[in-house]
Amino acid sequence: MSEHATLAADYIADRERAHWHDGAIWFLRVKRDKAARSIPEWETLRARASEIKAHAMSRLGDYLEQFEAQATKLGAKVHWARDAAEHNQIVYGILQAHGVKRVVKSKSMLTEECHLNPFLERHGVEVIDTDLGERIVQLIGKPPSHIVAPAIHLRKEDIGQIFHEHLHTEAGASDPKYLAEAARQHLRAKFLGAEAGLTGVNFAIAETGGFVVCTNEGNADLGASLPKLHIACMGIEKVIPRAADMGVFLRLLARSATGQPITTYSSHFHGPMPGGELHIVLVDNGRSTLLGKKDFRLSLSCIRCGACMNTCPVYRRSGGYSYEATIPGPIGSILAPARDPKKHASLPFACSLCGSCSDVCPVKIDLHHELLLWRRELAQLKLVPASKRLAMWAGSLVFRHTWMYETAGWFARRIVPRLPRWMLYNKLNAWGKQRELPDFPQQSFRELYRRRNGS
Ligand code: SF4
Repeated sequence: MSEHATLAADYIADRERAHWHDGAIWFLRVKRDKAARSIPEWETLRARASEIKAHAMSRLGDYLEQFEAQATKLGAKVHWARDAAEHNQIVYGILQAHGVKRVVKSKSMLTEECHLNPFLERHGVEVIDTDLGERIVQLIGKPPSHIVAPAIHLRKEDIGQIFHEHLHTEAGASDPKYLAEAARQHLRAKFLGAEAGLTGVNFAIAETGGFVVCTNEGNADLGASLPKLHIACMGIEKVIPRAADMGVFLRLLARSATGQPITTYSSHFHGPMPGGELHIVLVDNGRSTLLGKKDFRLSLSCIRCGACMNTCPVYRRSGGYSYEATIPGPIGSILAPARDPKKHASLPFACSLCGSCSDVCPVKIDLHHELLLWRRELAQLKLVPASKRLAMWAGSLVFRHTWMYETAGWFARRIVPRLPRWMLYNKLNAWGKQRELPDFPQQSFRELYRRRNGS
């Protein structure tokens, strides 16, 4: 089995948890559908967002320079990082120059991608994630399992146990209000003791040099306004041309992510606070290379809403950790192999090609097409295991010859149900480890087709 398949098999071994996870994520998808349907111009907005992003990517260098010039005029200091190591070093350098030992950080998938927390901790800096979900997973030393809802894989009872162990709440308490209040008290003290605030960036505006951070908890605002030092880290693809474009993205983002009309806080930052310092770190870390790949450059338009994960039947049933990538799900399965094709070669195959991700994506990324193209790319790089190549060759042979297809159908209907169980459910049948084989229809596919079409 491939890496993803092995981890997914372990995950679904706990059937109850897998079923519960599927339902929790599907709940978000349903809310997204309702929110999208409430706006008649939804498809127009998606098309507009896609065009703006495509345009921004076509002149990315110009817009980044414009953003740097405008942000500098506003009093921010702009830094450029080629990769994760440079990004971490820049952030640490700024903290070191200010003698900072305690940092509060709002949700930023970029800093996860760069492994900033462990880097800073190794250098004696305490980093506290202030997004509630992120703090929960940080307490148990895990990364987020979902880009919008980092702890969605945990039930309230699990969180109660984690808080009991780390925040000394009552044993067995799992009331969400009680737990949220405990987290609030715990984080409040961390905010007050922080010497610097670190945030991500959802959108950076070239025209003004300002940027926008979207949260539901207000933690980015508190973290960026209590300490005098604010560091904002952003991938270079976050830049958009004009302030007037913001409305398009803000209307799409929260609706696609959680089904809310807008995130509770959409905070605009224009230069440092009075008497404070603002540093913006622009990070490439493989994005320019991706921009140069015409088949995959659209994936840079991603606004990290998580909708493709929420709709993906594979993600919902296999959990975020089975991807072993900072960003899981369909978009992660495109971005991760672009960074390290060998390590993440299994991910583009963790997809049924149903196309649901492309249908919900607010910026119209052709996700399932890109996943298919990655398979070709990986085959050319000779990163597809021989067992999979053989199975695909056999599958394509059967699908290309009607008589073979009919024979396979006859075999499945007549012979498979009569085989002894040990022949079907053994180590060779990874699929059957967790599931029963389906009941095959008793009529041949040809008969079914004739019946339906009356021919
Ligand atoms: S690829 Fe599209 S749907 Fe998926 S997270 Fe990015 S913007 Fe959202």
